[in-house]
Amino acid sequence: MPSPPPDPALRLRIDRAALAANWRALDALSGAARAGAAVKADAYGIGARLAAIVLREAGCRDFFVAHWREAAELRDLLAPQDIAVLHGPLTGDEARWARAAGVRPVINSLAQAQRWLEAGGGPCHLMIDSGINRLGLPMADLGAEAIARLDIDMLLSHLASADEDSALNPLQRARWSQARALVPHRRASLANSAGIALGAEYHGDVTRPGLALYGGVPRPEMAGHLRQVAWPQAAVIQLREIGPGESVGYNATFVAPRRMRLAVIALGYADGYLRCWSGRGAMRWQGARLPVIGRVSMDMSVLDAAAAPDLAEGDWIEADYELPAAAAASGLSQYELLTLLGRRFGRESG
Ligand SMILES: *Cc1c(COP(=O)(O)O)cnc(C)c1O
Repeated sequence: MPSPPPDPALRLRIDRAALAANWRALDALSGAARAGAAVKADAYGIGARLAAIVLREAGCRDFFVAHWREAAELRDLLAPQDIAVLHGPLTGDEARWARAAGVRPVINSLAQAQRWLEAGGGPCHLMIDSGINRLGLPMADLGAEAIARLDIDMLLSHLASADEDSALNPLQRARWSQARALVPHRRASLANSAGIALGAEYHGDVTRPGLALYGGVPRPEMAGHLRQVAWPQAAVIQLREIGPGESVGYNATFVAPRRMRLAVIALGYADGYLRCWSGRGAMRWQGARLPVIGRVSMDMSVLDAAAAPDLAEGDWIEADYELPAAAAASGLSQYELLTLLGRRFGRESG
């Protein structure tokens, strides 16, 4: 290849300052605790390496990923012991890899504890299940001999319903406190983004926001503290005019009521702009609103360009993607809206 290929006709605009400001806001809301950062799933689609650089610069020290590969991707940017791998060691090989890499496994079961000790052990985190009944050591196993032999840095638990005012929140907090009294550890952590808003009793030493770092608003009272971080943008790859009665896109779900000028953009469901936006989403160009008409297809969507008579091929438009509003409009969660954003985006940060 003579030179790198041209940039893609879609990109994510990333506001690095907003990401850093969100971390600082969540760190302040965490009171005496220090905010960490969930950077799993490519930092919720934002780009894990970019997020790690910005968050470390802002002052973040504790980073959480789900998979070993996600830890490996960040190892040259972060101190390995600052990377916690939530899924823990499923095999002896994984335990040995964690030891060699120096990253901190999160131990989630007696079997994982034994595996870690057999591989040589060393500092680790321990996730206890206080009621989400997903991944984590059952409370009943807290007294086991293998747990007593662990060198536990962080004692974790995870809230199931922190984004609601649920009786499960105080129940989980009480069980986490009980576990803290039983098992020696250096630091304790319970709250995800929404949990931070539940108050000081939920903070421990380290909080673990993910969604809110990237501009999601898990509880309405957090809205004023958080800024949107990512906006999908796409280039207009074709403009066309159609007459009344002509249809647009697969299955002809839209029929033009009048003569119309259409803009075709390089953003489709393979990029995470799902078909639920068909006839419902909108894009912005210089303040004008351009509704999505017809079906979203794999690599493209079609817009009604009536509000933007000066729009030209090659111009960039930006999706209406303000997370709480987009979640309400699409029926997708704010988490899905972020993590769907595909790998074809160029990432432009400023
Ligand atoms: C994903 C995750 C988080 C972050 O949760 P948000 O709701 O995105 O803030 C925190 N802790 C654990 C264990 C997680 O899996």
